[in-house]
Amino acid sequence: MTEVAAFPTGTILGYPRIGRRRELKKAVEAFWAGTITAAQLEEQASQLRRATRERLHELGLAKTDSSIPEAFSFYDQVLDAAVTVGAIPIRFSSLVGHDGAVDLAGYFTIARGEGDNAPAEMTKWFDSNYHYLVPEIGPETKFALSSYRLVQEFTEAKKDGYLTRPVIVGPVTFLLLSKPSEGAPDGFSPLDRLDDILHVYTELLARLSEAGAEWVQLDEPALVSESVDADRAAVLAAVARAYDVLGETVSRPSIFVAAPYNSLGDALPVLATTPVEAIGLDLVRGDIPAPADGLETKVLVGGVIDGHNIWRGELEAAWQKLDSLRALSPSVAVSTSTSLFHTPHDVDDEPLLDERLKSWLAFADQKVGQVAALARGLATGKEHIEVTLAAASAALRDRQSAPGVHDGSVRERASRLTSADFGRGDYAVRLQAQDAALSLPFLPTTTIGSFPQTGDIRRARARLLKGELAHDEYVAAMRDEIRRVVALQEEIGLDVLVHGEPERNDMVQYFAENLDGFAVTQNGWVQSYGSRCTRPSILWGDVSRPAPITVEWSSFTQSLTAKPVKGMLTGPVTILAWSFVRDDQPLGETANQVALALRDEIADLESAGIGIIQVDEPALRELLPLKIADQEAYLDWSVGAFRLATSGVATRTQIHTHLCYSEFGVVIDAINRLDADVTSIEAARSKMEVVPDIKTSGFGRGIGPGVYDIHSPRVPSVDEVTELIEIALASIPERQVWVNPDCGLKTRGYTETVASLHNVVEATRRVRSRVHA
Ligand code: GLN
Ligand code: ZN
Repeated sequence: MTEVAAFPTGTILGYPRIGRRRELKKAVEAFWAGTITAAQLEEQASQLRRATRERLHELGLAKTDSSIPEAFSFYDQVLDAAVTVGAIPIRFSSLVGHDGAVDLAGYFTIARGEGDNAPAEMTKWFDSNYHYLVPEIGPETKFALSSYRLVQEFTEAKKDGYLTRPVIVGPVTFLLLSKPSEGAPDGFSPLDRLDDILHVYTELLARLSEAGAEWVQLDEPALVSESVDADRAAVLAAVARAYDVLGETVSRPSIFVAAPYNSLGDALPVLATTPVEAIGLDLVRGDIPAPADGLETKVLVGGVIDGHNIWRGELEAAWQKLDSLRALSPSVAVSTSTSLFHTPHDVDDEPLLDERLKSWLAFADQKVGQVAALARGLATGKEHIEVTLAAASAALRDRQSAPGVHDGSVRERASRLTSADFGRGDYAVRLQAQDAALSLPFLPTTTIGSFPQTGDIRRARARLLKGELAHDEYVAAMRDEIRRVVALQEEIGLDVLVHGEPERNDMVQYFAENLDGFAVTQNGWVQSYGSRCTRPSILWGDVSRPAPITVEWSSFTQSLTAKPVKGMLTGPVTILAWSFVRDDQPLGETANQVALALRDEIADLESAGIGIIQVDEPALRELLPLKIADQEAYLDWSVGAFRLATSGVATRTQIHTHLCYSEFGVVIDAINRLDADVTSIEAARSKMEVVPDIKTSGFGRGIGPGVYDIHSPRVPSVDEVTELIEIALASIPERQVWVNPDCGLKTRGYTETVASLHNVVEATRRVRSRVHA
C-alpha cells in the first residue's frame, strides 16, 4: 500500500437496494417470469445504482471521498460473497461456467432452487427480519475469485465521476455464517478454510485497488454475536489471522471493518492490533469501548445513527458519543450503526402519514442527512450544527408530549398488573377441563391458520382500498370465502377448524391497523429476503384496542360448523418484531401494552363461544439478543407478555401457540414457560430434527411438530406423513401429539394444499388405527 487516503468524515454502511418504488423487485421478478432479458435486468440495476449514488450525493455525501458505499445486491449480500469466492453448493456445480463463474440466472437458481435441487437455506440475519442465504462450505470447496461484479460496479460509478467504497461481507463472518456442505466429515468447520478464502479476498482487494478504490468495507457483524457456532477463542484467532493477512497485502485499498448490530467486545482489541485502517462501531446497540492498544492509530467510525429503526432520535446524544470516541483516537468519523437497508427510503414518500408523526421520523434519506450534518460538525465544529441538533431535540420533546404517546388509562392499567395476571394455574386441571369441553380424538388434526390467499381475495381487498367495493360487500366476499374454507376442512376431515384468515393482508399489519398507537405507511417497504419486501407498521404510541377485531369473523365461522373453530391472533412479541417500535421506553413495557389489548380480544373471543385460541409467536427466536448476557431479560419480558395476553381465560379454554423455525433448542425453555396448552412448530422441513429436543426438555403439554412442509408446492405422500407422525410418537407421549402442517398455507395454491391435507388426515387415520389395533 502506498498512500492512505483519508476516511470520509461521514458515511453510511449501506442503503436500501430494492428501490424507492421497489424497482429492483419488479425487474427481478420480470426476469424470473421471462418478460425481460438478463441484459435488460442488468441495465435496470445499473440505473438503480446510478440513481442511488446521485441521491446520496444530493443528501450530502461527497462524490469522490469514498463516502458512498457500493453495496448493491440482486438478491442477498451473503450469496454475493459466496459467488464472489466461488463457493457454489455442490448440487449446483453444473451452474458454474468454464470461467468459474455463475451467470445471473444461475445466481437466482441457487437462491430459489430448481427441480429436486433445494435452494440454499435461508436464515435470519442477526436480530433483524432480513434473511440471508446460508453458504455451504466443505473441504472440497474450491475457492477462487469468481465474480468481478464488485469491481465492475465500482468502475461503473467511476465512469460517472464517483469514487465509491465497495462493500462485501468479510471473510470471518462469511465462514461463521456458512454451514458444512453435505458430506463434510464430522468435526469439519467452515472456519477451517480461512486461509484458503483469504487468498481470494487478497486477490479481490488487489483488483479493487487496481480499479482505483481507495477504501473497501468488509462487514463483520458475526464478531458481535455470541450465538455463532464456534468458540470465541477460535473466532478471535480468525479475526487476528484474517486481518493480519489482508492488512499485509501489498496492493490493496485501505480497509474499513464494520461491525454492526452490537459491540465488538473482546474482538475490538484484537482488530486494533491488526493493520486495518478503520473500524466501524455500532454505538446504538453497543457502548463506547474501553481504550485498547492500537486503537489510537485507527479511524473510529461511530455508528451513532440507528440504521435499524425509523426514529429521528436525539442528535445531541449522537454527537456526545462521537465526542467520547475522540478520547480513543484522534480520527473519528460518523456513520449509521447498520446498513440502512432495514429502513424504508424516504419519509417524504408518505403523504398520508400524519404531519406531526412524520416530524419525529427519519427513514434512510433523512438518516443520510443526519450523518451529513454530524460530519459537518466533526469537520467544522459543533457550533455549525447547533440548529440541526436543536431541531432534532425539539422534535423529540414534541413527541414526548404528544397526545397518544402517553395514554393515561393504558399506563394506569399496566401499573396495576400483579403476578396473578401472568399465570393460568395448574396444567393438569386445565387439561381435564379442556378434554371435557372439546372431546377431541387422539392425534387431533388442525392447520396453522391461513388458507391460500387467492387472486380473488387480493383483488377484493385492493378494490376495497380503492373504494370500488363497499365495506359490507367486502365482508360478504370474505364470508363466502370462509364458508368455502370451512366446508373444505369438513370434507377433508380435520378436527379443529380455522377461518383461513382471508381478511388479513399481513398477520401483523392487520392488528396494527386495528389497534390504537400504530400507523401504517404507503411506501415503507423493506427487504425481507430476495425480492420479498414487508411494510412494517410504526408503533408510535401507547397501544390499546378501540373495538373487538377478530370476534365477528371467528363467531361467524363457528356458526357454520359443529367442530371447534380456533380463534387466531398474532402475539405481542411478533407484533413488536415485525413493526418499527417506539424507542422511548423498554420493549417489555410496549409488549405488555400490546398483550393487554390482546388479552381483551381473547376474553371477547371466549365470551363469543370460541373454545380454542391460537396466539402466534413466530418471531420469538428472532428478537433473541446477540449477547448472552442480554438474553435472559429478553426471554423474561417476551414470555411475560405472551402469558399476560393469554392467562385471562377459563381453564376449559385451550390456548395454542405457533412458532416457525427449527432451531428450537436455544429457546425451548422459554417455549415451555409460555405455558400454552398446545404448541405447533416447524418440523417437517428438518425431518423432525426438533423431536429429540422436545423429548430431552421434558415438554409436558400438547405439541404439534409440523408434518407437511408448506414452503414448497410438493405434496407429501401418505407414507411420508405417516413416518413423520411415527417419529414424533416414538419420542413424545401419545396424548401430547397434534398433527398439523409446518406453518400457514397462505402462500400455497389450492391444488397442492387440498391434496396435502387429505394425505395428512389419511396418515393420521392410519396411525390411529395402528395404535388402537
Ligand atoms: N396463523 C398464521 C398463518 O397461518 C401464522 C403465520 C406464521 O407463523 N408466520 O398464516
Ligand atoms: Zn409459521
